[in-house]
Amino acid sequence: MQRFNSKALLLNGAVGAVVATGLGGLVLANDDVPGVAVLVPVLGAVLYVLWSMRRYIRRMMADPEPPEGIRKTLETGVHFYKCIKDPAEKTRFRHDVQYFLLDQTIVGVGVEVTDELRALVAASAVVLSFGRPWYEWDTTRDILLYPSAFDEDYNHRSDGRRLGQVGSQGPVIFSAKALRAGFASGTDGHNVGFHAFAHVLDFDDGQIDGIPANLNWEAIRPWVDQMSAHFTRRDRQGRRKQVLRDYAFTNEAEFLACATEMFFEQPRRMKQKAPELYRLLEEFYGQPLADQ
Ligand SMILES: [Zn+2]
Repeated sequence: MQRFNSKALLLNGAVGAVVATGLGGLVLANDDVPGVAVLVPVLGAVLYVLWSMRRYIRRMMADPEPPEGIRKTLETGVHFYKCIKDPAEKTRFRHDVQYFLLDQTIVGVGVEVTDELRALVAASAVVLSFGRPWYEWDTTRDILLYPSAFDEDYNHRSDGRRLGQVGSQGPVIFSAKALRAGFASGTDGHNVGFHAFAHVLDFDDGQIDGIPANLNWEAIRPWVDQMSAHFTRRDRQGRRKQVLRDYAFTNEAEFLACATEMFFEQPRRMKQKAPELYRLLEEFYGQPLADQ
């Protein structure tokens, strides 16, 4: 994530100029006062540019460092952050967390949204986008936190099976308990936060197919081949011999989400046991984790 995006400014400025010219022509055709014909469209164009750049304006006005409570959770509870050696990269991670929190709406449903939970939600997303600094997370989905597992009717139940949920639209939902458990161990291959935000990346193009959005044709083929190879191997050899846990084979979307969890929590093991899949994830997420 970037504090300011000059490309977006240029693009929105160009659209603003076109809008101003069009509006100017309209106003000029219906008004005899030339000053108004210039002022109204220019004002409209400026307002458009400010509105479209509001995310970056908010970032420019805010302190890029997250509050103390968030920083503390990153330092004590986020394995990925603790493993970053370069101080400048650590700072970039903290700033990404702060920008994410400035953009997103996190709502507690029967649970208080503490700094600790806000930090864990933000870290779940920022870990995935850290190697893709141009990427901006969707802000149209709210993020809901439930106290614990829930059922299909969103009732909190100790025997509820859902720890997180992401649809093609609508909110991203987490069980706060499961979110904490995901970060309690940073190396066991399970993290509901990484899992859920991997689904968001899958859904970015509106298709739930286990192939990350915005890949070109050449890049899609290897993903299809890899998924097909792993599903076939699982059918032939059974679940015990697979690198990914069995839930990955529910469908293609779960395959990507579970592979993402393993990539970020056990990259060396994945590179050793499933080098082709590791390579695709390394390229997509832009992070050579196994070699760090
Ligand atoms: Zn899932």
